[in-house]
Amino acid sequence: MEQSNLENAIIQLWIFVLGTVIGSFLNVCIYRIPERVSLLRPRSSCVRCNEAIAWYDNIPVVSFLILKGRCRYCNHKISIGYPVVEVITGIAFWLLFRYFPLRDTSFLFCCIYLTFCCLLIVCSFVDLKLHIIPNEVSYTGLVLAPLASLVYPDFLVLSGSAWVFNVIGNQRIHSFLASLLGILVGGGLIYLCALIGKVVLKKDAMGFGDVKLMGVIGGFLGWKLSITTFFLAPFLGLLFAIPKLIFNKERMIPYGPFLSLAAFICLLYIDVCSGIIDNYVDIFLYFFNH
Ligand SMILES: [Zn+2]
Repeated sequence: MEQSNLENAIIQLWIFVLGTVIGSFLNVCIYRIPERVSLLRPRSSCVRCNEAIAWYDNIPVVSFLILKGRCRYCNHKISIGYPVVEVITGIAFWLLFRYFPLRDTSFLFCCIYLTFCCLLIVCSFVDLKLHIIPNEVSYTGLVLAPLASLVYPDFLVLSGSAWVFNVIGNQRIHSFLASLLGILVGGGLIYLCALIGKVVLKKDAMGFGDVKLMGVIGGFLGWKLSITTFFLAPFLGLLFAIPKLIFNKERMIPYGPFLSLAAFICLLYIDVCSGIIDNYVDIFLYFFNH
């Protein structure tokens, strides 16, 4: 028993460390994709002195702590954003492993959801930094989600999103259609909001980047979880926006990080979220039938 507990702890630590290593690559994506620089070349270097960063100075989180957040050569301050992304990716991987039945399923299944997490993290941090959601990332997600649902149909069946298509016998086609429906519902809800916002406020209240991001979320999570994400995100946004508006007087608050966080929470509580939607569907059907 004790043996297996230790084993379990080591696996969990390993998943966290793997997350920080992937997070280190996500940092490269966050900084280079908006500038349209290749992700592979050139090697990472200091933004001030241009000195290449050696492998031992590139160990996630650890190197930042050892170097006390400064460049080894010119003492230039390194952004705290780097270790933050690494730690967040580590925690996201660990949470998915801990609270999501990742370990009971195939390697491919894990890869689909971990990739989804990575897309969310890159979108969120680019949005925080530049107030845009890069098309390179959202289009990748919009293509990957339906493809993944064809290759690994179980992942949308899991959220119960595929039942709409139960009339068709083939599970792959169910799941593929469910992913497309998710894109439509997710993207559509935000698009509708943007339209209403434009009419009411007479200015662009929401960017088209958010529409595409919600499309990605719907494609991976299905229509049920897109609805719960859509309703959860503004609450998370308010928690953050109220103090910011009071103290900073900053008007522009990116919405991508809140959509992403809401989607991640809905993914962790997949059963609860799809249950909530099922209840509403039941109520609707009750009134429809009576
Ligand atoms: Zn330097």
